Amino acid sequence: MSQKFLEKGYEIVEHTKKADIYIINTCTVTNMSDRKSRQMLRRAKILNKDAIVVAVGCYAQVAKNEIEQIPEIDLVLGNDEKVNIVQYVEKYIKESNAQNNETINTGNKIQDVMQSKEFAEFGDVTYTEKTRAVIKIQDGCDRFCSYCIIPYARGRVRSRKPEHIISEIEKIAKEGIKEVVITGIHIASYGKDFRSGKEIENEKEIQGNKQYRLIDLLEEINKIEGIQRIRLGSIEPLLITKEFLDRLIKLEKVCHHFHLSLQSGCNETLKRMNRRYTIEQFQEIVKNIRKYYKDAVLTTDIIVGFPGETEEEFSKTYNFLKNIKFYKMHIFKYSQRKGTKAATMPNQVDGNIKEERSKKLLELSDKNQKEYNKRYIGKEVEVLFEEQEGKYYKGHTKNYIEIKCETNENLQNEIKKVKCKKLDSDCIIAEI
Ligand code: SF4
Repeated sequence: MSQKFLEKGYEIVEHTKKADIYIINTCTVTNMSDRKSRQMLRRAKILNKDAIVVAVGCYAQVAKNEIEQIPEIDLVLGNDEKVNIVQYVEKYIKESNAQNNETINTGNKIQDVMQSKEFAEFGDVTYTEKTRAVIKIQDGCDRFCSYCIIPYARGRVRSRKPEHIISEIEKIAKEGIKEVVITGIHIASYGKDFRSGKEIENEKEIQGNKQYRLIDLLEEINKIEGIQRIRLGSIEPLLITKEFLDRLIKLEKVCHHFHLSLQSGCNETLKRMNRRYTIEQFQEIVKNIRKYYKDAVLTTDIIVGFPGETEEEFSKTYNFLKNIKFYKMHIFKYSQRKGTKAATMPNQVDGNIKEERSKKLLELSDKNQKEYNKRYIGKEVEVLFEEQEGKYYKGHTKNYIEIKCETNENLQNEIKKVKCKKLDSDCIIAEI
C-alpha cells in the first residue's frame, strides 16, 4: 500500500510523525490485536486532528460495525479494497471537500471477502527485507481451525497467477535479490482454486493430479537466474508427501528449512482444534523429510492452554515434542478469539497454567537449538549475509541457522563460506 501511494507522488513518513493521511493496516488474529488496532487508530487522530484516518485490513473486515463506532476514523476499507487504496482515499477527500469539509463517512467499503474468487493482484511489490524478498502467492484459507478467525478475514483460497509470480521474481532477481520467501495464508492450498468443478480435499490427490500446484510453481522459480535460495513459509504438514519430496529434492535452490505448523502433539487436542492430521501422520512426515534432507531444520508453532487441554494432554504434547526435536518452536498461549468455535468451548485454561506450559516448551526449544547448533562447531557453512549488528555481520545458512562473523567488511547480500567456531545464545559465531 505504501508503494501505491509512493507511485502517486505521496511521501511516506514514520507512523509516529504528523501526516495528512494515516492508513492503519489492522490485525484481528487475537482479541489483543483488535485492541491494539483500535489504539493505533485513535492515536493517529491525536497526532493530527485534521488528518484522514483510514482503517483497512482484517479487523476492519470482520468487525466493520464495531470499528465504525470509533469517532476518530474517517474511512473503513476491507482486505479486497487494499489494491485500490489510493483511489478510495482520493475519492473520500474529493467527496468530503465537496460537502464543506464535514468529516463524514462517505466511502466506507467492505466487500464480502467470503465471496471473493480471484487473488487481488497488487502488481509487483518490491517488499524486501535487506536481502530477501517475501513473495505472496495466495490468499485465504479453507481450513477453519476452531481457534482461528483468518478464514473469515481473508476469505477462501485464491491463488495468484503463476505468470505474475514468476515475472515479479525475475524482476527482483535482476535487482540483485538472492533469496525469496514463498508466503501466503495457506500455501499448501496453492492452485486448488485453479481447477474448476470438484474441490480436492485429499492432499494425496492434490499431489497426484495434473493440476498446477505449489510444487509446479517451485520448479519454475528454481529455474530463475540470479535467485539462489527459495525458502518456504509456514506449511501445512500434510502437503509433504513422498511424491512432493521426490520432486522437491531435485530443486537445488530450495532451503532445507521447513516450518511445519503442528499446534499440538496430542491427538485429542488436535481434534478439538480441527487440525486434520494425527501425531502419527506428523511423525511419518518428519521421518520422510529427515530421510530426504539430512541437514533439515524443522521449526514449528505450538499453542498451549487450548480449551480442555488437561495435564495429561499437555504431557503428551511435551513428550511428542521432546521426541521430534524441533530446532525452534514458537509458543503461543491460547487466547480466546471472539467469533471462533474455540472461544465458546468449555474448560478454558487458567492463565498461570498457560504461562507454566509455555515456559516449559520454550526451555525445550532453547535446548534443542543449542544441541543442534553444537553439531556445526568446527564445520564450514555457506552464509547469506544480511546486516551489521554491532561488531558482527549477521546472516543465515540455507537451513536457517543464524551465523555471526566479526568483520568490518560490508557483506550485505554476499554468500560466503565460513567456519563455525563457537555457540552464542541462539546463534553461532564463525570466522570468514
Ligand atoms: S490453516 Fe492456518 S490460517 Fe487456516 S484456519 Fe487453520 S490456523 Fe487459520
